[in-house]
Amino acid sequence: MVEKACKICHMLTEKKECPVCKTKELTENWQGIAIIFNPEESDVAKELNFKLSGKYAIKV
Ligand SMILES: [Zn+2]
Repeated sequence: MVEKACKICHMLTEKKECPVCKTKELTENWQGIAIIFNPEESDVAKELNFKLSGKYAIKV
């Protein structure tokens, strides 16, 4: 199954809505994966504004 990216927070999900913001604004048209374990300590997470650990699309 193809993962979709949330247009708002960039979280990747296989479900029909984003587990974080509960929106159905998902797209299959995304690029690059960032896996965040410790958002507090991750420069990437800070730069891209990812506040929770998880798998994110870099470009949506
Ligand atoms: Zn979201």
